[in-house]
Amino acid sequence: MPELPEVETLCRQLRKKICGRPILASEVYDEKLAGIKNTKGRNVSAVERRGKTINVFLNNGNFISIHLRMTGRLLWQKDSEKPQYSRWKMTFNNGYIFLVDPRRFATVTIHKTIPSKMRNDLLTGFDEKTFIAQQAVRKINVKILLMEPKALAGIGNIYACEILHQSGVSPLRHASSLSKEEWTKVFNESRSILKRGIEKRGTSISDWRDLFGCPGEYQHELKAYGQENKRCAICGGTICRIKQGGRSTFYCPHCQK
Ligand SMILES: [Zn+2]
Repeated sequence: MPELPEVETLCRQLRKKICGRPILASEVYDEKLAGIKNTKGRNVSAVERRGKTINVFLNNGNFISIHLRMTGRLLWQKDSEKPQYSRWKMTFNNGYIFLVDPRRFATVTIHKTIPSKMRNDLLTGFDEKTFIAQQAVRKINVKILLMEPKALAGIGNIYACEILHQSGVSPLRHASSLSKEEWTKVFNESRSILKRGIEKRGTSISDWRDLFGCPGEYQHELKAYGQENKRCAICGGTICRIKQGGRSTFYCPHCQK
């Protein structure tokens, strides 16, 4: 599932391709998306990310809200030939955008009201003080907390494992047991790992591809996620895999305390 760096990558790529251009046509191939109307002829004025949601703003004040969920992808093509599993196509004067989604969980909705700024977006909505004040009192496991959309938008399993590893914090800890210094580390590492993830256009472990169908490159920099039995890049110990909340957690028991 795309996390914050992958969705931000798409937004940046979309901006360059479609901002200021009119939507010449919008074709829906999946009845589940029948609500997409009134977009033809409108100019795209902006593309913005809110957590894992892509908002495409139009010059009539409406905006298209896209959430890719499990397997959704946006694909840019110069030609109009429909790729397999296409659910929706937007036509521009320089190319086409397809929503490709084998499992059909992605949602596309049209809205009028501009959403308020997300307070739980690590890159845009928090300062360190607010972040620590909000998270440090939570009575929940720290890794589960990092992945909780209401607490922090856009962090999934891959980046949660990386953040805790780089912070030296065990995924087995309770959020309220972390010291202020440890929370500061988690905050700073979260931001720097997400920013690096964006620079590398996301992590392609399974099916993530960017707007142009290219894999990201952050998977080459992973130090915990998927590294079971490999040497820890920080201390030389061995990375372990455990189960937490039905998901695999990768961490180094030697340097993550
Ligand atoms: Zn280690």
